[in-house]
Amino acid sequence: MDILIEEIAIYGITFLVCSAIVVYYYRREKRKSKEVAEKVLVAKEEGRFEPVSLHPHIDLTKCIGSGACITSCPEKDILGIVDGVATVINASSCIGHGACFHSCPVEAISLRIGTETRGVELPHIKPNYETNISGIYIAGELGGMGLIKNSTEQGKQAVESIVKSGKFGSEDVDTLDVVIIGAGPAGIAAALNSKKHGMSFEILEQDSLGGTVFTFPRAKVVMTQPMDLPFLGKVKLYNTSKDELLSVWTKVLEENKIIVSENSKVERITPLESGCFKVGVSGANEREVLARNVIIAIGRRGSPRKLGVPGEGLQKVAYRLLEPENITGKKIIIVGGGDSAVESAILLMEDNDVILSYRKDKFARIKAKNRTDIIKAIENEKLRMIYNSNVKEIKTKEITLSINDAEGTLKQESFPNDLIYIFAGGELPTKFLQNAGVSVEKKFGKIVKKY
Ligand SMILES: Cc1cc2nc3c(=O)[nH]c(=O)nc-3n(C[C@H](O)[C@H](O)[C@H](O)COP(=O)(O)OP(=O)(O)OC[C@H]3O[C@@H](n4cnc5c(N)ncnc54)[C@H](O)[C@@H]3O)c2cc1C
Repeated sequence: MDILIEEIAIYGITFLVCSAIVVYYYRREKRKSKEVAEKVLVAKEEGRFEPVSLHPHIDLTKCIGSGACITSCPEKDILGIVDGVATVINASSCIGHGACFHSCPVEAISLRIGTETRGVELPHIKPNYETNISGIYIAGELGGMGLIKNSTEQGKQAVESIVKSGKFGSEDVDTLDVVIIGAGPAGIAAALNSKKHGMSFEILEQDSLGGTVFTFPRAKVVMTQPMDLPFLGKVKLYNTSKDELLSVWTKVLEENKIIVSENSKVERITPLESGCFKVGVSGANEREVLARNVIIAIGRRGSPRKLGVPGEGLQKVAYRLLEPENITGKKIIIVGGGDSAVESAILLMEDNDVILSYRKDKFARIKAKNRTDIIKAIENEKLRMIYNSNVKEIKTKEITLSINDAEGTLKQESFPNDLIYIFAGGELPTKFLQNAGVSVEKKFGKIVKKY
């Protein structure tokens, strides 16, 4: 009898403990699910739910809610679980790693460009990376598929296609075999492969070597597979840093005597009757270059939009913020009202004298956290906010703003100034491509990777 009671007690306690564990996990999952659903709502309100480029699409009939996609994604809050299945949260911040795609145990994820309602413009490219214009090739993220490894591969392959076409090696020394536009992963690989094949070439970069990688807000870089570089072979850097990656590129370019023409923005590519191209370069090295082939490796982020005001060419004007920790004791004006401008102002305000100049009378689409932080900073006078203002003129030691004051009167005021950061959006590459005759199509949910 005693044994029976003891057994019942053991079973009872076990049952209670198991039930408590089940209830605990159920409640925890329910709470997490609610949190994710709220994040989705915020992302929708702030316009970050809709993807802008490559992004995961989840097949809800297959998803088992394992969460492997969330764990594998190196970015934060791109994906989450609601009611046992995965959902995108901030799809517009997805950088197309595809780590979620590889990690899904039930193959429920495909990688797509555009959605049913929001199209994304992509250039028309043949399997050999040539566009509809014979002799113009596109490599890297501009073609739709991002990541360092993929872009590197495509840069190399585009050159292989030129080799197969036989359109190189003429005696006309005034016309290069290839002009490569952009010195990101795709452009670097194309330059190295051009050198390997003995072609005459030039690589033109509007900014400096490294492409988008250089502008990463974090130092960490993830590569799920090795990157195969001409002269070096497979470079196995899985979890690496920007600096390490850049030093690999710098070293291999130097060893092969390849000089990247930095600060050289390509404004236009004009096809000539001869079948060659005239490439117009602006910036410090304004000129025209003739080429038999052009590889466009300019990524998808475009060129920073300029203000077009006197003095914008001065050295102190920049369109991105690098190493804010090294900037101290300066009088800085930041122009813009988006996330980049606000984040830069917050990063610089502790150690510098910062003015944030925005042409509108309030912040529009910025992340909730940025809005809270900047409002707090303005209230605490950590920086000076000047709404309704536009840059009029930039001089070596000062800047003039035209300001529409509260009464609607337009006045001009000058401020002492050492540095200016302009975040006025970007000019997307579509027009640039169309001007060269390259056809661009809008893709609505095009699947670029599936099992
Ligand atoms: C925040 C963030 C994090 C990322 N993290 C990773 C990661 O960890 N691992 C990974 O594999 N990928 C990562 N990526 C993706 C990766 O950076 C890109 O897929 C890759 O850099 C694309 O290479 P690309 O050569 O095609 O273009 P880009 O790297 O974009 O390079 C294009 C270059 O062309 C130049 N250019 C543009 N227009 C002109 C012009 N008119 N004239 C001259 N030059 C021009 C640009 O200045 C730029 O230097 C990340 C992306 C972002 C935004």
